[in-house]
Amino acid sequence: MKKDIFGLDLDELQTILAEFGMKKYRAKQIYQWLYQKSEFDFAAMTNLSNSDIAILEEHCEVLPVKLKILSELTSADGLTKKVLLELGDGNTIETVLMKFDYGYSVCVSSQVGCDMQCAFCASGLEGCVRNLTKAEIIAQVYIFNAMLRESDNRVSRIVVMGSGEPMLNFENVFGALEFLHQNETSSMSYRNMTVSTCGIIPGIERMENLGHPISLAISLHSVKQEVRTELMPVNKGYNFLSVIKAADGYANATGRRVTYEYIMLQGVNDTPEDAELLSNCLKHKNAYVNLIPANPVPEKGLLRPTQASIDRFVKILLKNNVTVTVRKEMGKDINAACGQLRASYTNKNK
Ligand code: SAH
Repeated sequence: MKKDIFGLDLDELQTILAEFGMKKYRAKQIYQWLYQKSEFDFAAMTNLSNSDIAILEEHCEVLPVKLKILSELTSADGLTKKVLLELGDGNTIETVLMKFDYGYSVCVSSQVGCDMQCAFCASGLEGCVRNLTKAEIIAQVYIFNAMLRESDNRVSRIVVMGSGEPMLNFENVFGALEFLHQNETSSMSYRNMTVSTCGIIPGIERMENLGHPISLAISLHSVKQEVRTELMPVNKGYNFLSVIKAADGYANATGRRVTYEYIMLQGVNDTPEDAELLSNCLKHKNAYVNLIPANPVPEKGLLRPTQASIDRFVKILLKNNVTVTVRKEMGKDINAACGQLRASYTNKNK
């Protein structure tokens, strides 16, 4: 059995390599190859000795080369690329690369599947299978770093907004973000990281206690208790008023503006009354609303609202001085909404 050294802290790597009789400074060199150059082939690590390469090849392996890319879809505009990855145990996850003016951003999954059972989401159709490991979360970034290497680019932002509920896999998710932040790896600024939650309050509080200026996004989707409970069963345990309070606490502690995601579903939460109620909840807060016209999930029978009702909703928020953006649709043609690619793959293989 080979030892997978991907995602280890530098001192852990030093300890392991020492067991194979390798010098301490080698770990630093290997670290640079793996995490700054995204080079996963030991034989290509040109400043190592041949004997060290032989030791590495005999005893070690790295996760990104073991992950199988089952499918790779690029949107028509070329700005979004989604991959379906097969993990070591045969489970599959989705990861998305997005190109923006400011650089590349990756949307990572935090769990295989999800237990939150949101009515509009395809990720949770079959529940949560397991948490992703810290290395599996980091590897989702490095799969793309390796692809971008040729053009001398790399991922500079991460959003934990793929499948899964990050607050229910707290240690691995935040462990991965802390790993990517290090100068020895990706030097990714915490301000370029966003964690999106359905509103698990203890997780928000724990995130605040970490003290990193990571952006917090809350999936809100309705400010009517019955409607939100219908859309997001988690509202029974953590109702949205207490979630907004916790998010407000986070904004005050970190100075970071909170994003509220609001999926617009025709006839469910897109009325002028909904827009007024949402404004009342968020007025005067360090927050903004990201409206997401729903990607229809055929399995769930939910519809995208008309452009007129989106425009009307935006107008009301703006009138009430609530900042709002409408999510730019990236990759609608490649099923970029959470879990839709994986769901169609799982269905095909049934
Ligand atoms: N569990 C976390 C993170 C994963 S879901 C959370 O709830 O925030 C991240 C986002 O995916 C959700 O806020 C939602 O905006 C989006 N999403 C899920 N299904 C969608 C769909 N059918 N159409 C549009 N967005 C969707």
